[in-house]
Amino acid sequence: MKTPILYIVVPCYNEEACLEETKKQLLKKMTDLIHTDSVSQKSRIVFIDDGSKDKTWEMISKSPKTVVGIKLAHNRGHQNALLAGLMYAKEHCDISISIDADLQDDVNALDKMIKEYADGAEIVYGVRSERKTDSWFKRTTAQSFYKIMSFLGVETVYNSADFRLMSKRALEALSEYSEVNLFLRGIVPSIGFKTSTVSYARSKRFAGESKYSLKKMLNFAWDGISSFSTRPIRLMLSLGIIVFLVSFGILIYSFVVKMLGHTVDGWTFTICSIWILGGLQMFALGIVGEYIGKIYAETKHRPKYIIEKITGE
Ligand code: UDP
Ligand code: MG
Repeated sequence: MKTPILYIVVPCYNEEACLEETKKQLLKKMTDLIHTDSVSQKSRIVFIDDGSKDKTWEMISKSPKTVVGIKLAHNRGHQNALLAGLMYAKEHCDISISIDADLQDDVNALDKMIKEYADGAEIVYGVRSERKTDSWFKRTTAQSFYKIMSFLGVETVYNSADFRLMSKRALEALSEYSEVNLFLRGIVPSIGFKTSTVSYARSKRFAGESKYSLKKMLNFAWDGISSFSTRPIRLMLSLGIIVFLVSFGILIYSFVVKMLGHTVDGWTFTICSIWILGGLQMFALGIVGEYIGKIYAETKHRPKYIIEKITGE
């Protein structure tokens, strides 16, 4: 087998505090990999600046020639930035490895991933062996999210994020997905092919703060659920049926009360029913509306990202 061309894809959003060290470690890893003939000399590191407001782009553009910089015109979020990088890599590489810019993913796991690829895997997931370095909040919310996802029937790889190797073939398959609500952790497992996993210990963020605000995290989770599962609608339907059945009981009850001549007493109950049902209906409508919103976004076929410029080609 010929030595593969590796493209390491790194999305960066306001990462000036980490970038120098990340670049150093990745360049060193790349040199080692080239020296041991694990990857071709044509391999590159691709940094995608996801519309950062700090010095990130300046730092990316001042890099050696093994580094490619892609500057997105606007902050489009981690998943879109990552896709921009992967779709660029697809044109040039045999394998891509996506990794975060904050050195939380273990750079040394790259060797194992490339070995798995040599053994025939088209997609290799980096799976966290433990989450000790995450805060209690992050750990609990993330793990419950993956449990809810699997309950809703969405195929994800437990405890794996976006640290993964994808072959050119897998990338080509990924490019066939034209959805706007991008949730790569759900899309990639649905591609198929021979897959494998490599476990690694997740470290603390090297510097700076998490770029996933609570709002971004909740958006991400909701995108994951609503883009892959229609089970929430089913749940609402079941709830609707149950409420409907219960209302028969209430009908009989109110008749009995009327026969006994105590109708005025039922006022509290009526008001309660109106509020409860009104609330439920609104909730159900809201959920349905979410899906309609998604259909709306998909039918618009907006570009997922716009590349402003490319350096170091
Ligand atoms: N990121 C991005 N765009 C965003 C938010 C984050 O490109 O809008 C990048 C960020 O620079 C990092 C990766 O996505 O390389 C993961 O983000 P972060 O480490 O902040 O998330 P966490 O590890 O806290 O989940
Ligand atoms: Mg991180």
